[in-house]
Amino acid sequence: MKYHLFALATVFLLGACDARGGSSEAAAADRNWAICIHGGAGVVELTAEQEQAYRKSMRVALDLGRELLADGASALDTVERVVNLLEDDALFNAGRGAVYTAETTHELDASIMDGSTMACGAITGVKTIKNPISLARLVMERSKHVFLSGDGAERFADSTDVQRVENSYFDTPQRLRALQKAMGKDTKGTVGCVVLDQQGNLAAATSTGGMTAKEFGRIGDSPMIGAGCYASNSSCAVSCTGHGEQFIRHTVARDVAAQMEYGGKSLQEAVDHVLQTVLSPGDGGLIAVSKDGDLVAAQNTPGMFRARADASGLLEIKIWADE
Ligand code: ASP
Repeated sequence: MKYHLFALATVFLLGACDARGGSSEAAAADRNWAICIHGGAGVVELTAEQEQAYRKSMRVALDLGRELLADGASALDTVERVVNLLEDDALFNAGRGAVYTAETTHELDASIMDGSTMACGAITGVKTIKNPISLARLVMERSKHVFLSGDGAERFADSTDVQRVENSYFDTPQRLRALQKAMGKDTKGTVGCVVLDQQGNLAAATSTGGMTAKEFGRIGDSPMIGAGCYASNSSCAVSCTGHGEQFIRHTVARDVAAQMEYGGKSLQEAVDHVLQTVLSPGDGGLIAVSKDGDLVAAQNTPGMFRARADASGLLEIKIWADE
């Protein structure tokens, strides 16, 4: 059991940045696919049983991604399928395990981006969509728009065969307890996935219930292309988690890509810069994969549920910053 005594907001610990930096061409050739997932930043304490359950869930999601990619699946299909699985898992704040709003309902957000075409789709404030990332993909592929909200997004969903549920499907006892604590700071569990596929294409996906006790139609970074999600074959794919307002303010996902594109930074350097000098300690974390297959999962919180794998045999599952 791991127990951090300090409060999230006062943590000044920068998470270990665990990248495979310094890629030689030979090493890059070994990595003809690469994947990284996250299940949210801001984790502070877990019982031994909870920790085991999270590690198991991440392993199942990572293994699905590994199998798909080894079989030649596209980056886009892979990020959607892996995020679907995490959305169906009540441990995470996305889909089934979505947090409660201040009105004791659930409003879900998601976004997806195809780095090979720059096509993207996003939805916010939906209440009946079992797998929000799949509706985001439908917005991308079947509407002429990029970002749909609330009732409009639900009406668009009516024109598709996306799976619908009652809002109460998202009710879970652990999220109700979090609401009752009225902390509004429980940021655990947003999910995301970034992938480089065998064809050399990148994709990113992020899905969340948002922040516990959110009010007034609040929208975080997760459904915002450029803030909580971004992918471009010319640099990298990024999915973020944490205090959404900060990630919107600093357009974090796009900033990582822009530093690589315009500043010539490596993925690791770009991520370090954002987490150490742009964001504040305790804000959250992100996962990213470069066009060369470098993988970075890093955070400035005590922990972030994260896992990564690639074709060279890398397979890693981590929760705490100091492991
Ligand atoms: N970034 C999400 C939001 O602000 C929350 C999270 O990542 O846990 O809605």
